[in-house]
Amino acid sequence: MERTLSIIKPDGVGRSIIGEVVKRLEENDLKIIAMKMIWMTKKQAQGFYAVHKERPFFDSLTDFMSSGPAVVMVLEGDNVIARYRNIMGATDYKEAAEGTIRKDFATDIEKNVVHGSDSPESAAFEIGYFFNQFEIAV
Ligand code: ATP
Ligand code: MG
Repeated sequence: MERTLSIIKPDGVGRSIIGEVVKRLEENDLKIIAMKMIWMTKKQAQGFYAVHKERPFFDSLTDFMSSGPAVVMVLEGDNVIARYRNIMGATDYKEAAEGTIRKDFATDIEKNVVHGSDSPESAAFEIGYFFNQFEIAV
């Protein structure tokens, strides 16, 4: 069994598509074992995306991620990291496959509705960044 961190980013929450995203997860048998709404500070967003701190889009990305509430979730299942990333679609929605969340809802390469961990190591860091053990239903 694997776990991954999912975020419905501030653009998704602001456009009232939390339900649409959760529906895609549930339809695809991605089990939600923790969920809450947060509003990251700029510093918290910088810590979350620290791997990207040298990228040209880092300042804009962390402004965006701290611009409003987001929904953070822990998903669990076999191969869930890859399965969820397939459902999310490519980072750039213009390159995302048909039927993916980003293809259907993203409006911008940055404002791309959802986040998903990209490896077991990043999933462990990212889940621990937002959740303690008592907040995860197992
Ligand atoms: P995420 O980590 O959010 O799940 P990802 O793994 O598909 O997305 P990353 O390369 O990790 O993509 O980039 C993190 C986030 O930074 C992207 O989801 C997007 O919001 C933003 N981003 C990535 N590349 C660019 C870019 N070229 N210009 C602007 N923003 C970008
Ligand atoms: Mg990433």
